[in-house]
Order: sequence, then structure tokens, then C-alpha cells
Amino acid sequence: MSDKEPYQPDNIFAKILRGEIPCHRVFEDDTALAFLDILPQADGHTLVIPKLAVRGLFDMPDDAWGPFMQRVQKVASAVKKAMGAEGINLRQFDGAAGGQTVFHLHVHIIPRWEGVALRRHGELMEKPDILKANAEKIRAAL
Ligand code: 5GP
Repeated sequence: MSDKEPYQPDNIFAKILRGEIPCHRVFEDDTALAFLDILPQADGHTLVIPKLAVRGLFDMPDDAWGPFMQRVQKVASAVKKAMGAEGINLRQFDGAAGGQTVFHLHVHIIPRWEGVALRRHGELMEKPDILKANAEKIRAAL
């Protein structure tokens, strides 16, 4: 898929935003939605997406970054606390060559622990009951 393509409203995160497919939601307001990644690189791996129809890094309006990143910080704080993480990685894969597979802008919040390697990006599906339990823990920490 070319990075020059327009926003496609049938992408999987647009469907999640519209409630057409389920997700393990941890946070939502007028600006952003956060939910667990179903193929987590670490326990508690969370995705934050803006409510704007934006493909990637270079499409987000200037004035939307501040409010959006405030939500990322708020959710990252809850993820860290809920999962007992020692550190956090924020990641954004931009463009197909950059590893982006879903073309609705999103920031990955990935909990880190000393000596614990990340699982590979988008490879291992997590069990629904584990995702459910982690989402509950994160919601409780918000
Ligand atoms: P990207 O590769 O575009 O940076 O990240 C897309 C992420 O979305 C991947 O980490 C992948 O595991 C996750 N993902 C793909 N499909 C779904 C889905 O249907 N639901 C959820 N919750 N995550 C998804």
C-alpha cells in the first residue's frame, strides 16, 4: 500500500472506533481511544488512536498533537502502574516500509522490565481472558 493513499475508512481501527468490531477498551474521550493490542509485544501492550481520520505521522493537524499526546501520557501512566512496569516504550511505525500495518495513526504503549525481551511485532495472538484481565487492571489505574 502506498503512503500517498488517502485515509481508508474501512481500516480495522476505524471499525473499532465505530464500534463495528470489539476491542479491550481501556480509555476513551472525545480526543482518543485506547485499547489493548491483540498481538502484544509485552503484557499490557496498549494502542492509542486519535478520533480524527488520520493515516499517519504526517497527516495529523498541528493543533491535534498536544491533546492527543496528553492522552497517550495519561494512558501510559496507567499502563505502567497497572502492569508494574519498570519502563515504557512509545512506538509509532509510519508507512509500510516503517512497519505500519494499520493505516489509522496509533501510538503503541509497551511496558518494559529489565532483562525481558519484547515479543515480535504483530506475531503472537494473546488469549482473550488475559487481554480482558489486563484491560481491567489498566482501567482501574486510570
Ligand atoms: P502497526 O504495525 O500498524 O504499527 O500496528 C498495528 C498493531 O495493531 C499491531 O501491533 C497489531 O498487533 C494490532 N492489531 C491488528 N489488528 C488488530 C485488531 O483487530 N485489534 C487489536 N486490538 N489490535 C490489532
